[in-house]
Amino acid sequence: MQTQLTRRTFLERLGVVGGSSLVMAAMQSWDLMAGQAGTRPALSGRPERRKVVVLGAGTSGLVLGYELGKLGYDFRILEARDRVGGLAWTVRRGSTHTEIGGEKQVCTFDNGLYVNVGPWRIPYIHTGILNYCRELGVPVEAFANYAEENYCYFENEAAGPLAGKRIRRRQVKADLAGHVNELLVKALDQHKLDLALAPEDMARLVEFLVQSGFLDPSDHTYKAFAVRGPGDPYPLSAILRPEFTRGISSIIPAGDVATLTMLQPVGGMDQIAKGFERAIEPSRITLNADVQSVHQDDHGVQVVYVDTKSGHRKELHADYVVLCLPMTIIAKLDVNLSPDIMSAVRAIRHSDSAKVGLSMRRRFWEEDDQIFGGHLYSDLPLGEFSYPSNDYFTKNGVLLGLYVNGPLGNLGEQPVAARIEHVLTHASKVHPQIRKEFESAYAVWWRRVTYSEGGYAAGSAMARRGVTARMDNRLLIGSAATTPHSQPDWQEGAVSAGWQALTTLHERAMRGTAV
Ligand SMILES: Cc1cc2nc3c(=O)[nH]c(=O)nc-3n(C[C@H](O)[C@H](O)[C@H](O)COP(=O)(O)OP(=O)(O)OC[C@H]3O[C@@H](n4cnc5c(N)ncnc54)[C@H](O)[C@@H]3O)c2cc1C
Repeated sequence: MQTQLTRRTFLERLGVVGGSSLVMAAMQSWDLMAGQAGTRPALSGRPERRKVVVLGAGTSGLVLGYELGKLGYDFRILEARDRVGGLAWTVRRGSTHTEIGGEKQVCTFDNGLYVNVGPWRIPYIHTGILNYCRELGVPVEAFANYAEENYCYFENEAAGPLAGKRIRRRQVKADLAGHVNELLVKALDQHKLDLALAPEDMARLVEFLVQSGFLDPSDHTYKAFAVRGPGDPYPLSAILRPEFTRGISSIIPAGDVATLTMLQPVGGMDQIAKGFERAIEPSRITLNADVQSVHQDDHGVQVVYVDTKSGHRKELHADYVVLCLPMTIIAKLDVNLSPDIMSAVRAIRHSDSAKVGLSMRRRFWEEDDQIFGGHLYSDLPLGEFSYPSNDYFTKNGVLLGLYVNGPLGNLGEQPVAARIEHVLTHASKVHPQIRKEFESAYAVWWRRVTYSEGGYAAGSAMARRGVTARMDNRLLIGSAATTPHSQPDWQEGAVSAGWQALTTLHERAMRGTAV
């Protein structure tokens, strides 16, 4: 070994990999963990008063509409945009939006290229949304959430001697296991570990450590080995740092954002919304319907909306209305929900999420770097920088140049061109080819997108659901923020919220007369 790593510092640093930080990592992943949507409601009966208006055709509104149709309700979905899906927006050639207080963008990617600027991956345990894919005939493919060839690149001095160097994740993993196993085998060989193991088990343990750490079978030392890649192993002291060890564990919790088995709809995340749209009678969904007010009384609910194409003001009447809208929108809506529900709505935050898609003339990450999906591990101000898991080895492709869920200085306030320049400047430190191959970009800062005014609903589902999921006479909220089972920052949360709204509404309607 080339380094002066004392036993004490080794043990301290090992604590970073395992011990207390393992507990922390587990807690963090629990926080991020998205459970399943619960059980799809099996309801029956047909209430007398069953005219329902659903506001919003995001995932939650579409799930609710689809299920209401099966139960025989007379429903309408009003959606302000000219498309269904809400946050599940796939940007491709011709996609456009004008930022609140800002510029208009029109996507000029080549035909066939796209970037999912909202949801982009589905953990395999999200059986609620995945079963809808199956039911609606939406094909899914593997989303490579991890690829051995992905790079690590940390600029900050705290990253130690490897700061500013582009190194492969595979090599970091191999060297960590190699060095640690070598130390353990050394201690076992020298009888320094007091383990309650029979001699034959001890021998098996050594054999396992030698094999899993790629140690030399004769002298039990870790040397560079062919599959790891060329060059000497990195010294343990250089890679035993949180920058490099973060996220490395024997197994990744199933619902964690780092889950290895992830899926994505073929052709873009909006294919799920389109699947629902195909399955729901066309006359039930009204696009370009910007809801202005929702007023309930003992006899029914009046919904007023503006047809954004014609500018005409229109009115609808229903027995019940379910608001599958973002909290940011409900908070400002002219709606007579009870004050406690409205104050709970106003207390719920939506993430300050942003994504930038970079269209590249050539898939240099595949051709030059052998990277097929996965992410860059870095401290660059890009959040998550990722490679596409679709259409490998085709002519060109779209990189996810930036994905953040919080503010990045004042980047979001700068002109779009400056934001793209920021991404290119930092990304080219890892991929110098980026400048030459860059074709065009599309930037979405959700806080500045009309009809969303924020990303996913954040925070604890349990705390919010008591108040926001309560039926208020004839009105009910049904978007992901009210999810009873799963975290709201996943589509699974929107499915769960849709199911909850369906159950609450149906029980209420079956009770008959209004309160
Ligand atoms: C950047 C980002 C990344 C994400 N990544 C993932 C991921 O990888 N996997 C995953 O499963 N989930 C992910 N999510 C979370 C997921 O997108 C959401 O939980 C889910 O889409 C929320 O659905 P919803 O129906 O509750 O809300 P929305 O999708 O917000 O739907 C609300 C609908 O209401 C409409 N509306 C708004 N105002 C009006 C009005 N005045 N009149 C009529 N209609 C109106 C909107 O146009 C919209 O269609 C991500 C979200 C973001 C922002």
